[in-house]
Amino acid sequence: MSEFLVGYLSNQSNHEDPPRECDVLIIGGGLLGTSLAYYLAKEGTDVTLIEREEINREASGTNAGSFHFQIALHQLTPNMTNSEKERLASEVRLQVDAAKLWDNLEQELDADLGVHFDGGIMVAETEEEMGVLRDKDEIEKSAGLESHILTGDEMRAFAPYLAPDLAGISFCPREGHANPLLVGPTYAYRAAERGVRFRTDCGAESIEVLTGEKHRFKVTTNKGVIKANRVVNAAGAWTGELAAQLGLKLPMGLSGLHVNVTEPREYFLKSMVQHIGRRLTLKQTHNNTFIIGGGWPSRPEPYPKRYSNIWNSTSGNLAVALRVLPMLKDVKLIRTWSGVWAYTLDFKPILGESERIPGYHVAMVPTGFTLGPMVAQMLSEYMTAPKGSVKLPEEFRVDREVA
Ligand SMILES: Cc1cc2nc3c(=O)[nH]c(=O)nc-3n(C[C@H](O)[C@H](O)[C@H](O)COP(=O)(O)OP(=O)(O)OC[C@H]3O[C@@H](n4cnc5c(N)ncnc54)[C@H](O)[C@@H]3O)c2cc1C
Repeated sequence: MSEFLVGYLSNQSNHEDPPRECDVLIIGGGLLGTSLAYYLAKEGTDVTLIEREEINREASGTNAGSFHFQIALHQLTPNMTNSEKERLASEVRLQVDAAKLWDNLEQELDADLGVHFDGGIMVAETEEEMGVLRDKDEIEKSAGLESHILTGDEMRAFAPYLAPDLAGISFCPREGHANPLLVGPTYAYRAAERGVRFRTDCGAESIEVLTGEKHRFKVTTNKGVIKANRVVNAAGAWTGELAAQLGLKLPMGLSGLHVNVTEPREYFLKSMVQHIGRRLTLKQTHNNTFIIGGGWPSRPEPYPKRYSNIWNSTSGNLAVALRVLPMLKDVKLIRTWSGVWAYTLDFKPILGESERIPGYHVAMVPTGFTLGPMVAQMLSEYMTAPKGSVKLPEEFRVDREVA
């Protein structure tokens, strides 16, 4: 176990009652909440973070740990217009910026987070999918993301482990992965060192806006009331539910996703593998197991139940993996788990301060492992700069309406 997890787990103050007042109260101890706490504390902000379970137990600790820098299947539509292409290019530019943050994150947090940039392969099975791959490649290049298209013998020489009859691949040297079990807790540990008070087993039950009082918000938790000048809703899949208490309707939805892990095999798969037309992410970890996912659904069940696995999702996911990488055929699956994923209807982050409820902030982003630390840093810059001097992108607005 890492120094950070030992440090975090042995910190008994996490279970004490929360302070009765603070400047910033973050609700949610996933990657968005913990990284935001760290960046705010670095600027000297007084922060308390409450988490109704333990840190990093939901999406941030159940995800597949992939950095998604290439445009993915769910972002693409056939026969895209120029404006759709421009929208995708702006998303890729955001991803390029996130890659720069990940480049330096282990140094910044002085920790091994399992960050590897070994590249990502996106496969196409048919000529039609190859067309989509070429369009995708063009948009990525225009946004400054390096990628290469390979077909035929060139593809087979580059990735001899892939099924030889695939129509082609794109290769993005920038893609990679990190260990989701380490990133959030390490941010939390480094934030606690800078004075952030973490309180776990402490859920926000209701929230009120106060008028004419020293503090603007009153948050009632299962461990008493906390008054705060500013609140950040970083509750992941439950962000919308919490915001609705104050009459905000966020453009988001949720979905249960599952991930599989196999027994270890001799290391050979350096790059992550994805599919342009079917749901697949596949990588070999540095302890030699294969992590296989890509967005296959699990069964929706209301909190506090955990979404349960659906066998057809597991078998469907593995069938795509075997089609692409036939040499996995005798590798045993050892575990399947699921997590709850929050997405936005326009796939943009929801980030910033509500115009309708000043002081109320939201931090939510669909590809939150890849982009979470970067958008948290952006929000921290906004919250710590003199009012009005830092602007967040207009399209991330909390109060936007999405058709
Ligand atoms: C199975 C799966 C695979 C994924 N794979 C990838 C991937 O490979 N790459 C990638 O970039 N992204 C991936 N994602 C998405 C990514 O994991 C999430 O976008 C990201 O972790 C969201 O972080 P978060 O902090 O917003 O949410 P969470 O990690 O869910 O944290 C929110 C926290 O808020 C707490 N909370 C909720 N309500 C309250 C309350 N009322 N009071 C107190 N606490 C509360 C919850 O208990 C939870 O701990 C995946 C997601 C899933 C589910």
